[in-house]
Amino acid sequence: MLAFGLGGCAGPNLFTDLGSVSTGTVNEGRVRNPQRMPLAGRGWRVPPRWERRKFHYGTDELIAAVQRAAGRVRSHHHRATLGVADFSRKTGGRSIWHRSHHAGRDVDLLFYTMTAKGRPMPPLREGMVKFDGQGKPVANDEKPYPDDDWQARRFDARRNWQLLEAFFTDASVRVQWVFVSDEIKDHLLQWAQRHDRAAWLVEYARTVMRQPGDSAPHDDHFHVRVYCTRSDRFHGCQDSGVVWQHEKKTFKYSGPERYDPLAWRLLLGPPRTLL
Ligand SMILES: [Zn+2]
Repeated sequence: MLAFGLGGCAGPNLFTDLGSVSTGTVNEGRVRNPQRMPLAGRGWRVPPRWERRKFHYGTDELIAAVQRAAGRVRSHHHRATLGVADFSRKTGGRSIWHRSHHAGRDVDLLFYTMTAKGRPMPPLREGMVKFDGQGKPVANDEKPYPDDDWQARRFDARRNWQLLEAFFTDASVRVQWVFVSDEIKDHLLQWAQRHDRAAWLVEYARTVMRQPGDSAPHDDHFHVRVYCTRSDRFHGCQDSGVVWQHEKKTFKYSGPERYDPLAWRLLLGPPRTLL
């Protein structure tokens, strides 16, 4: 408790921290001073439907990581463009569109799609298209897709896998979940194994990809959720649910003493060390 008190005085607090701060949980939380995702950049675009919704706000780390990941996929193919859908509202918190997405740590990303011949296609503009386990688009009879080229599209396993790898290898974010359907998960893992991707990346993907039991199966987009950063945890950011084995150390050693070296020195170093 002492460390916490000192940290509160010596370090930036919720209102003097000039970066973004995610507080609470993804289902009951906010994001303060969020970063805004630009509408387009190298390798990504926010399609018109999501531009109108204005859920462009996330933590500094997540916004930057999405841009880097899309840039990496683009570096492999000059036409690869990621469709970026919703992060959080400007103030975070509740919305009619999402149960989570409160705290700037969730983002919905359209799948990369390609023609039947394997040429990358630009992101859908007005909707999300469902794909089956073979990467083929699935008709939605109840609610026809607004984009009329949906039937020409195939799930682009190579680009979608490259995107996941970019997140998993980005040291500034730690992925808790990638919500996606079981069929697409299997499709991606098979692609990765056929193409000799590193075993640890395949295991990482197998661990974090999950078809949610309590909401839509996510067969038309990825929903990526990242853990609280260490500094945001200090300000009340709360992770809910599972902590993966590979994250345990990060959790164990997080906290004010690591975040705030000044407070740590005050605790450990009596004045005589200065003499
Ligand atoms: Zn989502």
